[in-house]
Amino acid sequence: MSRSHDLFSAAQRHIPGGVNSPVRAFRSVGGDPVFFESAAGAYVTDVDGKRYIDYVGSWGPMILGHAHPEILAAVIERATMGLSFGAPTELETLMADKVCELVPSMDLVRMTSSGTEATMSALRLARGYTGRDKVIKFEGNYHGHVDSLLVKAGSGMLTLGEPSSPGVPAALAELTLTLTYNDIEQVRQTFAEIGDQIACIIVEPVAGNMNCIPPVPGFLEGLREVCDAHGAVLIFDEVMTGFRVARGGAQERYGVTPDLTALGKIIGGGMPVGAFGGKRAIMEHISPLGPVYQAGTLSGNPIAMSAGLKTLELISEPGFHDRVAAQTERLTSGLEAQAQAAGIALSTNRAGAMFGLFFTDAGPVTNFAQATACNQDQFGQFFHAMLEQGVYLAPSAFEAGFVSGAHGDAEIEATLEAAGKAFTALAR
Ligand code: PMP
Repeated sequence: MSRSHDLFSAAQRHIPGGVNSPVRAFRSVGGDPVFFESAAGAYVTDVDGKRYIDYVGSWGPMILGHAHPEILAAVIERATMGLSFGAPTELETLMADKVCELVPSMDLVRMTSSGTEATMSALRLARGYTGRDKVIKFEGNYHGHVDSLLVKAGSGMLTLGEPSSPGVPAALAELTLTLTYNDIEQVRQTFAEIGDQIACIIVEPVAGNMNCIPPVPGFLEGLREVCDAHGAVLIFDEVMTGFRVARGGAQERYGVTPDLTALGKIIGGGMPVGAFGGKRAIMEHISPLGPVYQAGTLSGNPIAMSAGLKTLELISEPGFHDRVAAQTERLTSGLEAQAQAAGIALSTNRAGAMFGLFFTDAGPVTNFAQATACNQDQFGQFFHAMLEQGVYLAPSAFEAGFVSGAHGDAEIEATLEAAGKAFTALAR
């Protein structure tokens, strides 16, 4: 038996399900999760000494690859000066200046310690600013485990939300309307009926939590129009897409400007960081400037700021995003070719350095219903065949994949070679 298996058994003694975040438990693909020991560049190494090419990248933050020497040096240097003060440091100003430079829709930005806190705070701010309570989200979009956003789709338009987790009060879930991603007509109709009650729309501008689904032309533009027409706040949840699908995130890539943006993952370079910000007129409602309360003991933590700042500096280098996007394109077109050669129906999506694999002959996939209709058994088998060959994909058919600047030609070629064998085995 592997050391991962033993460690997983031990972990279950005092950790719920043996993990500190559910998708790590491999429930949807089966088998024991792999316990990691270390990582460098495009590779992670497990506790049994096996090395994998990593397409999870800690679920997004590691866009420069693991253990980047310059980021490590920044963290180590800063750590010797003290770990946390709970008082301002210059690093926070440098971070805020950098974020507002890279994401021009943000005039003011507040740091948090996770993506969940960022979306939760943006939502409270939108409600406090508009004086309205209802929020619109989209089926299959995930915004962290915020009560108001852990709400299932109602069937049909205007069906008010049911909680998707016990513990979320129905009274709160009723304020959340869940609509179909990429269906702008449904959004327009909803606003025509109750637009004056809606505080905000929150959207993943490229959906990355139901596999990877980019916006269809006109969708994000349409959201901007209805929000303007009805005085609602448009929130882009760029926790995943920020600094990844383009230097300035999805808003730069698709040319649509939100009022508020939630950030996470890359902004911390692998340390626990999130942020939310946007237009000055809205952000001025946050305490201590305004009445909407928001705070955090470790917010703006100096070690986390050092890792994040160095990361943002390195990804700002000209050509970085084009290079990673080109590698991602090589990967997805190669996978499609390999699948076709083996007679497996595969459709892929891609936005910059994130990608999705769909086992279906009904591609391209543009919404949640299509994503969930894909062959999940085939995904599970493919996942395990790749894992066996030393390629670590996200252990769920509903997660995006991530390519980093450390994924060179050799890693892409090795991945495609493994995929060829995996598809052939699937076809048998
Ligand atoms: N928003 C999006 C789009 C995410 O992908 C995630 C996490 N995967 C979150 C919010 C929540 O971030 P965190 O896990 O850091 O709380």
